[in-house]
Amino acid sequence: MNSQYHSGVERRPVFLPRSSLQALFTVLQQAGYRIYGPTVRDGAIQIDYLESPDALPRGVTNDQQPGHYRLQTGDSQRLFDWNHGPQALKPLCFAPREVLWQEQMEPHGFQRTLPEVTPTAVIGVRACDIAALLIQDHHFELEMRPDPHYQQRRERLLLIGVDCAHSASTCFCASTGDGPALGGGYDIGMAELEEGFLIWHQSEKGEAITRQLALERADDAQLEAMLQASDRAAKEQQRQLPGSDALQHLYKRLEHAHWDQVAERCLSCGNCTAVCPTCFCYQVDHEMALTGDAAEMVRSWDSCFSPTHSDMGHFQVRSSIKHRYRQWLTHKLAGWQVQQRRIGCTGCGRCIAWCPVGIDLTQEVTAVLEEGSLDV
Ligand code: SF4
Ligand code: SF4
Repeated sequence: MNSQYHSGVERRPVFLPRSSLQALFTVLQQAGYRIYGPTVRDGAIQIDYLESPDALPRGVTNDQQPGHYRLQTGDSQRLFDWNHGPQALKPLCFAPREVLWQEQMEPHGFQRTLPEVTPTAVIGVRACDIAALLIQDHHFELEMRPDPHYQQRRERLLLIGVDCAHSASTCFCASTGDGPALGGGYDIGMAELEEGFLIWHQSEKGEAITRQLALERADDAQLEAMLQASDRAAKEQQRQLPGSDALQHLYKRLEHAHWDQVAERCLSCGNCTAVCPTCFCYQVDHEMALTGDAAEMVRSWDSCFSPTHSDMGHFQVRSSIKHRYRQWLTHKLAGWQVQQRRIGCTGCGRCIAWCPVGIDLTQEVTAVLEEGSLDV
């Protein structure tokens, strides 16, 4: 049996019976956390406020294919047998639309106020989405100019990760090194077994919660089942991304004919950037009241597929769909290696499942990098 069960976790996980999940919720609530996690809404797994474990998706599995996402419900008691839905952790720290500050004319000028943020615990977070959050941290918490809105939410976040026991056909986190077993960056880790959960902590914040639970010793068979489940999930994956060295060659393939073929299919709808847990582009608008004594600074998600994203006033840098798709892929997979010290993809596969025309970045990038391509 491994002495190290997960990356950076030396201690032996312990067992939380299925019937004790409510106790975890109670401890979190008593510690002042609002609990968010997976629940079924509008035919998909969504991250939402959870009053109790009853709202978790019991017996739910999913079928994900390019341009296709469907849930199925069976008799199983398992709560985490699905793969992620369209939403990752991104909206919890980097909201799709938020008022950065409001200004009201006072006798001595405008006053700025930051919104209140409640401590939030998120249960059921997957390894690829934690890896994506760490990329967002790098972007929004840069030492020289940290974003106070992001930082405020991030500091109040407690993450309860869960190993993936299955992969969807769109998953390829094993090839990016971001899953399916939990890596780093979470507070409490869990793995689901038929009879309950293995549980461990990775931070002091997490330990403050787990030490209040009545936990049992996990036997060797349970630990083996945990390791086998994530191993099976990795072997199930049908897609993969080329390695980061190969991806750097994307910038030598800017004139490859395949960009035109993708552009014929791409609708430039921006779904892929909206569901992507690592995309961080936004626009900021200063909205003034007609009375002239109040204003709001509003931030909303933007996308490199939006025609205005590259608008310089008198011309658009990327006026065609071909140029927008090429920008998305080359920046995310090659440019980010310089800016973020890693590729901007954690293999979650959302952009494949939620693309209305089923464009699959693993196939597109392989076609662009293939031998015999036109180098510039
Ligand atoms: S790749 Fe798909 S999801 Fe992304 S903009 Fe094009 S059509 Fe929309
Ligand atoms: S590029 Fe696609 S597969 Fe990669 S992290 Fe973003 S949504 Fe997931």
